[in-house]
Amino acid sequence: MAHVLVTGGAGYIGSHACKALKAAGYIPVTYDNLSTGWQDAVKFGPFERGDLLDRGRLDEVLAKYQPIAVMHFAALSQVGESMAHPDLYWRNNAAGSLCLIEAAVAAGCLNIVFSSTCATYGDHDNVVLDESTPQQPINAYGASKRAIEDMLRDFGVAHGINAVIFRYFNVAGADPDAEVGEFHRPETHLVPVILDAIEGKRPALTIFGTDYDTPDGTCIRDYVHVCDLVDAHVLGLEWLLEGKGSRVFNLGTGHGFSVREVMNEAQRVTQREVPHSEGLRRAGDCTKLVSGSTRAEAELGWRPQRSTLSRMIADAWRWHQSGHYDA
Ligand code: UDP
Repeated sequence: MAHVLVTGGAGYIGSHACKALKAAGYIPVTYDNLSTGWQDAVKFGPFERGDLLDRGRLDEVLAKYQPIAVMHFAALSQVGESMAHPDLYWRNNAAGSLCLIEAAVAAGCLNIVFSSTCATYGDHDNVVLDESTPQQPINAYGASKRAIEDMLRDFGVAHGINAVIFRYFNVAGADPDAEVGEFHRPETHLVPVILDAIEGKRPALTIFGTDYDTPDGTCIRDYVHVCDLVDAHVLGLEWLLEGKGSRVFNLGTGHGFSVREVMNEAQRVTQREVPHSEGLRRAGDCTKLVSGSTRAEAELGWRPQRSTLSRMIADAWRWHQSGHYDA
């Protein structure tokens, strides 16, 4: 069976990708420095501890497994943190990815599936966000991801890298078997923050901004189930292995939900109150990010199966209540 190197395989999305890769007949090799990931989440293939900026370690692991492709998830991913500490995002995400891409080229591993983000688009008023929308990020997280996209394109021209770039919208939910799930410390993402508030693990949800130009004043996002998201990655890998070349795909459902709508749905699904308060806007947040593309469906044959808000919250809730979440 062929190996796939999964950077960030101990993290939220990476661990779900490892499960999907194993189910599809590949051996996922997790490469992770455990700065935000968890070794307990590495359940579906070998684990190699290492940092993206450690070129020697990357060379060693690439030589050991000779992977047919790299799935590159390892990154810092908090918009608020990126505004306060852009240095972390440029070093870890941008410089770290440069080191990884150089190592992959040197090892002759030219297929890369890359986690990018809708945050690369920035705030566009009344514009349908498809893959041709200009990328004008308004936070350092999005800027660092756009830089990596550019890097992949340039290395494609110079060194033959083939990259499938996925621009994620908001990822939520968990493995329905609750083998893996979302687990950040500290937690900043909306759905787990809501569930933590319900369970009394934090005093309340703070709604970041109620004066946005949206029907209820709160930000609108397009939520996609993590299992659907990683299914797209397996399709992206197969796209590359079939020699179809570099391509960018949005991964979203095309449906937007406001922060209040997500909170209300969580109350409905869990039958519990969400303690909450209204706070100030968070620096770097866009008003509305909703995908306007059907390219992944049309070209990759991607069919999201679980990306309803109720299913995402129910799966995340099951994971929250499993013994793993508190471990
Ligand atoms: N959000 C919020 N309170 C929180 C966390 C998030 O109001 O404690 C809002 C945030 O401002 C954004 C949306 O929820 O509008 C999704 O934020 P998240 O951090 O989950 O993902 P992002 O969109 O930053 O990638």
